[in-house]
Formats: sequence, structure tokens, C-alpha cells
Amino acid sequence: MVKHVKGTRLSTVYGPLPSWYLGSYLGIDPMMPPRRCYFNCIYCPYDEGEHRGRAINAEVIREDLIRHIKDLNVKFVLIDGIGEPSFNEELADIVEAIERVKAEMGLRLSIALRSCAPHLLLKRLGSALRLVDLVIVKVDAVTDHVVSLINDPPSLDYIRGQVDTLKAIKEHAKLAIKTMLLRTHEVPLNTDPIELRKLLELLVNVSPDLVILDTPLWSAQVNALDRGLLEEIGDILADHLGWDRVRVRGVHEEVEEVIWNAEGIEDRLINILLRVPLSREAIRRIGGDIALETFNRLLLRSIVKEIGNGYFVLKN
Ligand code: SF4
Repeated sequence: MVKHVKGTRLSTVYGPLPSWYLGSYLGIDPMMPPRRCYFNCIYCPYDEGEHRGRAINAEVIREDLIRHIKDLNVKFVLIDGIGEPSFNEELADIVEAIERVKAEMGLRLSIALRSCAPHLLLKRLGSALRLVDLVIVKVDAVTDHVVSLINDPPSLDYIRGQVDTLKAIKEHAKLAIKTMLLRTHEVPLNTDPIELRKLLELLVNVSPDLVILDTPLWSAQVNALDRGLLEEIGDILADHLGWDRVRVRGVHEEVEEVIWNAEGIEDRLINILLRVPLSREAIRRIGGDIALETFNRLLLRSIVKEIGNGYFVLKN
């Protein structure tokens, strides 16, 4: 795996990166590549998982975090990376280790965690859920048929108790639901009027602290929604939840720039592109000209590949 980048230190910690719904963050990958995920999304930017790779233990993450966090002005650490965090059996220990680093270093950081398997997440975190400031759960569709088409999970059983699971998370942590809206030329997927109505009903019923409406700009497999349509859907939700609890891709833009220093910029870029698809424009915006020049060298060495619409990830 990642044979093209011999000599690069792959780290469990990547970033910092800006986010249009979180603010600046440092990513933490508790699984490491290759992708091992509960879902197999139609728009996934990573090659299909091979059901191997290694789950990372809390001590490795603690050491990587201490090494990276110095002098960084980020608001969040986001447990995310490539794959499903709750597949790591030490997830509770990892959250506790991050909390200890915060205390030892006097950091005012929030902990966010992204998951597409909230039923597993609840079991895995136990009481450590209280230490997570924001749990971001992916919900793209509601009916069995459309969930299968978009997310292709191994079992649809979890959908039956999904609302209760989401509400249970909300009792202990702030909850965000992130929804990727999309369609193809032939199939409306979650923009089908009936599916969309059911999805909005679920969002209003769960009433999370935040709804994040996104669309997969990088995908060559599906069509992203334009800003106008996303905003219309955001409007409908905001009528029920208020605009302060709704974020919409393209409407809420990144406000913070993250400028990297030149030191270790190639390793930084490689570790990010392993987990986050980026466009040239984004690379320049968050890393300056030096990041773009570094990226162009990676492209010439065939270390990165375009996945669609001018977005790039690391080759594996
Ligand atoms: S949840 Fe994310 S990592 Fe998992 S398959 Fe979907 S897009 Fe890929």
C-alpha cells in the first residue's frame, strides 16, 4: 500500500485544513489506509477497501498528535481519515488520549468525530462519547432502495433503529448530520421528491444541532447539485431548524485560510491527499504557491491521480 511514497512518513495526524462547516481542523485517522468502511459509497474518492490495513492504537495517535499540534491554531481535531473510525476497537482510548493531550498542553480544542455507522459508534465509545464535542453522522438517504444505491452497506438492519440511535447520541454530545445530495443522469437518487421529503422529515424529527448539506464535487460517477438547488433545500430545512443549524456547501464558504509553512510540506500534502480530495485551487488557497509547486511535482512523479472534476487524491 502507498508504494509510490517510500520515504514519506505516513502519519495518523494530517492537516491543518480549513472546513466550511467546522472551521480549521487537524485530522486524525484511527484506521490508516487502505479504506475499511461500513459503507461503499457511489461517490467515494478512495479505491474500494481490501478489508485489511491496521487499526491504530491510542499511544501512536497520542505521539503523532503531540508532534503535530505545536504552534497550530486550529479549532478542532477531527477523528475521520480513511474508513470508519468505529472499526477501531480502541476508539474510546483514542478519544481519552486526545483529551489528555489537550489537558497536558493546555489546548482549547474541540473534538469532532465523523462516522457512517452510528450504531457501532455508540457501542464502541461507551462513556467516552461525553468527551466528544461534535459527532458528525453521515445520512444520505432513508429508504432501503436509495441507501443501497448510494451507500451500499453490508446490511440495512441499522436503518430500522436509526432515528433512535441518532437521538441517543444527541443525549451525550452535539450531533451534526451530514448529507451528500446527488443524482445521476438516469436516477435522481436522494433528489427524488419522495426520497428527499423522507430525508428532510428524518432530519427535522432528529433535530440535530447542525445539518450539513454537501454534494460530491469531485465525483465522476454522480452529478453534484448546483448551489441554487442546495440553497433551496437548505431553505426548507432552515424553516424548521433555523439557519443557525444549517450549513450548505457553496452558501457557507470557508472563512479561515490555513497557510502551511514550507517545512515538511511534501509529507503534509501526501498525508492530506491520502484522506481528502483537493483541487489545485484549494491547495493554493490553503498552502500558497509553494504547496501548489509541491503538488505539481507529485503529479509529475505519478504519486497523485485525478478522480474527477479537477480533484486529486493520492494513488495507492
Ligand atoms: S463513508 Fe466515506 S470513506 Fe466510507 S465509503 Fe462512503 S465516502 Fe468512502
